[in-house]
Amino acid sequence: MEKIVMIGTGYVGLVSGAGLADFGNEVICVDVDKEKINKLNNNILPIYEPGLLDVVKRNVAQKRLSFTTDIVAALRQARVIFLAVPTPSAANGEVDLSFVFTVVDKLAEVIADYKIIVTKSTVAVGTGDQICERLLNRGVSRELFDIVSNPEFLREGSAVNDFVRPDRVILGTSSAKALEIMKGIYRSLYLIETPIVATDIRTAEMIKYACNAFLATKISFINEIANLCEKVGANVLVVAKAMGLDGRISPKFLHAGPGFGGSCFPKDTLALTKIAEKAGSRVAIVETVIKVNEKQKMRVVEKLLNFIPNLKGRTIGLLGLAFKPNTDDVRDAPALTVISEIVKRGGQIKAYDPAAMGEMRKHFPEITYVASSEDAAKNADAVIILTEWNEFRNMNLDYLKSVMKQPVMIDARNIYEPELVLEKGFKYACIGRKVG
Ligand code: NAD
Repeated sequence: MEKIVMIGTGYVGLVSGAGLADFGNEVICVDVDKEKINKLNNNILPIYEPGLLDVVKRNVAQKRLSFTTDIVAALRQARVIFLAVPTPSAANGEVDLSFVFTVVDKLAEVIADYKIIVTKSTVAVGTGDQICERLLNRGVSRELFDIVSNPEFLREGSAVNDFVRPDRVILGTSSAKALEIMKGIYRSLYLIETPIVATDIRTAEMIKYACNAFLATKISFINEIANLCEKVGANVLVVAKAMGLDGRISPKFLHAGPGFGGSCFPKDTLALTKIAEKAGSRVAIVETVIKVNEKQKMRVVEKLLNFIPNLKGRTIGLLGLAFKPNTDDVRDAPALTVISEIVKRGGQIKAYDPAAMGEMRKHFPEITYVASSEDAAKNADAVIILTEWNEFRNMNLDYLKSVMKQPVMIDARNIYEPELVLEKGFKYACIGRKVG
């Protein structure tokens, strides 16, 4: 049992904090957001994440998990300090490390005994060394701390399972002592023989970017193949399936759609290009992946304009706002681009998402939010499926058509069979498949 403090109780911090408590550690989750901590102290989740509430409640009841805004008290109590604070893109595209350094500076003020500082946030390569330098510059003795890079690979929507059954755990550190303590924290995973990759800090930091950039590349790749399929009359779903049957390729992240979004791929691919630029070793593939992705988001709008060239005064029903199903996260979601492009052209939006409307309202308070897909379709000139929530997969198309002003459907997630939708009398567009 290790005493841990998790600084930042967002998607990663909360899931990791609860998961590490479930592994038998004693975890204090800290956040600057009082409302978040109040909710958690009242057994209310501040985010939508399936299965998480049970883990939180169970560990709170066992007194292994607690929540506070008192960072100083928490830092004093724990030997291992996980940083799960945001690392957004700065204006120049580089990683903004200010949240990380705020915590490091606070630690420098209070540190009195040995601590391990663990970066779980995705941080630029070299950040571990910068943290070390920063602590030393503030007069902290080198014996008092070690640094570990322990990047996180959970996916929102299946985060709990991803955390407790990871494909691997990366532990980057130069300290044998810190490595042993970290292995102890993750001991539960030995039972399921989870590979532990022990390496140096910079390599660990790089692994995270390499993974995300590779997965983003797969998505942009299949999106380009989808666009080509449309031109040459091929079906991207079959192409992707056949590709995925090749064990060297794997079927994952080969779903053509409206482009990738979320809190990681867009900012991490951009960050990697900046890290590479600075190091004088550009990553041309990743630069292209980003460009392809921007274009792909616009393709959804282009498909709409093919049916309705002038959006002025037209109503568009948006089905799905989150960047993927089973999350309320709209950070960098394709919906943000689609909404602003429609609004810019004078269109009105009626949006529905089972979980993400609250988050989207923070970006677009002016559009209309409704309680169901049927409501979004009512009097609409088109509906666009932007997130493949299960409840959109089997809608009553006859009813939808009957309430729409005109039956136009843009299926940006390829969840319907073109023949079926056409048969119902819709004008239909999807991604990478021949229609009609
Ligand atoms: P988030 O915005 O959901 O959570 C971050 C939390 O940190 C917020 O609750 C915020 O209030 C809190 N915070 C900010 N400054 C703080 C401070 N000084 N002290 C205490 N709390 C503070 O972000 P997230 O999605 O959990 O991402 C966190 C990090 O994990 C990022 O580096 C991200 O790239 C990385 N990551 C995210 C995912 C994901 O799927 N979301 C997956 C892997 C890695």
